[in-house]
Amino acid sequence: MTNAFSFDNSYARLPGHFHARIAPTSVQAPKLVKVNRGLAELLGIDADRLASPEGVAWLSGNAVPEGAEPVALAYAGHQFGHFVPQLGDGRAILLGEVIGKDGVRRDIQLKGAGRTPFSRGGDGRAALGPVLREYVVSEAMAALGIPTTRALAAVVTGEHVAREVMLPGAVLTRVASSHLRVGTFEFFAARDDRKALETLTSYALARHYPEQAGTGNDALALLERVIRAQAELVARWLGVGFIHGVMNTDNTSISGETIDYGPCAFLDEYDPRKKFSSIDRGGRYAFANQPRIAQWNLTRLAEAILPLLAEEEEKAVELATERLNGFVALFEQAHARVLRAKLGLVREEEGDMQLASDLLERMAASSVDYTLFFRRLCDSAQSSDADARIGRMFADPGAFLEWAERWRQRLAKEVAEPVARAEAMRQVNPAFIPRNHRVEEMIRAAVERDDFAPFETLVRVLARPFDDQPEFESLREPPLPEERVERTFC
Ligand code: AMP
Ligand code: MG
Ligand code: MG
Repeated sequence: MTNAFSFDNSYARLPGHFHARIAPTSVQAPKLVKVNRGLAELLGIDADRLASPEGVAWLSGNAVPEGAEPVALAYAGHQFGHFVPQLGDGRAILLGEVIGKDGVRRDIQLKGAGRTPFSRGGDGRAALGPVLREYVVSEAMAALGIPTTRALAAVVTGEHVAREVMLPGAVLTRVASSHLRVGTFEFFAARDDRKALETLTSYALARHYPEQAGTGNDALALLERVIRAQAELVARWLGVGFIHGVMNTDNTSISGETIDYGPCAFLDEYDPRKKFSSIDRGGRYAFANQPRIAQWNLTRLAEAILPLLAEEEEKAVELATERLNGFVALFEQAHARVLRAKLGLVREEEGDMQLASDLLERMAASSVDYTLFFRRLCDSAQSSDADARIGRMFADPGAFLEWAERWRQRLAKEVAEPVARAEAMRQVNPAFIPRNHRVEEMIRAAVERDDFAPFETLVRVLARPFDDQPEFESLREPPLPEERVERTFC
C-alpha cells in the first residue's frame, strides 16, 4: 500500500540542537473523535484511512506512519513579559511535513502525544476539553478567513490526565504552515548561537517568504515580513472580536498564523478592555492591547536577530527601530481596511476612522453585542427599516440613530447599490462565531456526558460563518446573563 502521508521533513534535517528526536508515547484505548475531511483532502491524505484503526493508531501516537521523523522543537519565549530561555514542545511532537494540493508545505503535529525532553514538570498530555476547543475555534477562524493553524483530527486516549481533577485525555493533530515562533529565534539568541540564527533565518525566509530571499539581507527581509504578517493578523482578530489570551513570544508565529488556542475567547459585548484568561491578571493581553503586544513581541524578534541585521550594532538598531516603528502604520492601515469593510465602505474618505471609533465608543457605552450588531448592520445597509431594531440594542436608541444618520451620509458617497453593499458586508460580518458559552457547553457535553453532538454541530455551523443558517438561530445569540462565561482557562 502507498504511504498515507508523503512526508518531506525539512525541519528534522536541520542541525541536531534545533529539535529532539522523540517518538510519541502510546496510549491505552484510542478512539477517533473526528477527522477533518476537507483539510485531509487539501493535504492529499486519504481521510478514510485516517479514520481506520491504522489511522487512529497514528493519530493517537500508538504507531508512527511511514516516512515520519518525529521531533519535539526547541524554543524559548517571553511569557507575560518574562524571558524563559528554554520552553520547547513539551507535549507536542512534529511527525513531519507534507506539501498540500495547493503547493503549501505544512507541519503535521500531534499535540498531547506524551513527554519530550522539553516537558519540564509537565505530563506531555492534553485534556479533551482544550483539544475540542482548539479544534472548534481554529477551524472557525479558518472559515472566518483568518490565518491560523488547523485541526486535522482529534482522538481520545482512553486515559485520564490529572489537572485540578481527573479529565479524559485526548490528542489533537495540528496542522500549521510551520511551528516557527519568535521564541525559536530567542532560543538561539539566548545561547549566542549566531550560526543557528543564520540557518533559522534563511530557513524561515525560504519557507514562508521565498519571494523575499536574495535581497542580500535575509534577516531584515524576514523581520519586515513578520511585522507585516502580524500587523495584518491582529487587525483581523479585532475585526471578529477575538482575544488570543496568551500572546507570549512562544505563541507568536513567524508565518503570521494564529497559534495556540489556550484561554482564547471572543467578545460578546464590545469592550476594548475585555480579557477572559484566568492567568492574565493584569489584562496584559486584553482585547485592545493586542496590537501593542504584537509590536512588543516583534521587538523581541528584532533583538534576537539583531547581530544579523548589520555589521555595526548601531546600524542594526537603526534598521530594526525603523521597521518596528512602521508596525503602527501597517496595523492601522490593516485595521482601517477591516473596519471599512465592516461598515460597507469601499472608498477611503477622511473621516472614516472617526466614524468607526465613534460607533465603537457608543457600543462600549451600551455593552452592545459586537457580532450581532455588525450582522444586523448589514440589514440596515440595505434599508433603514432595520434601524429601530438595532437602536434597541443601545441603552438609548438615539445613540445609534444619530450615528446611523452620519453613516448614511457617508454611504451616499459609495457607488454600490444597497443590496450589493449589504451582501458584501455579510461576507465580512459573520452571523456565527464560536461564542464562549457555546464552546463551554460543547466541552461539558463531551467531557461529562460523552455527548459529542454539540461538538459536531458547532464544527458544522462554524464552517459557514457568513451564512444565515436559520435552523441554528440559537447559536447566534449572545449568552443570557446566567450563561455568560467570564473566565477561560488553558
Ligand atoms: P503554552 O502556554 O500552551 O504556550 O505552553 C507553554 C509551554 O508549556 C510550552 O513549552 C508547552 O510545551 C509546555 N506545556 C504546556 N502544557 C504541558 C504539558 N501538559 N506537559 C508538558 N509541557 C507542557
Ligand atoms: Mg504555546
Ligand atoms: Mg497552549
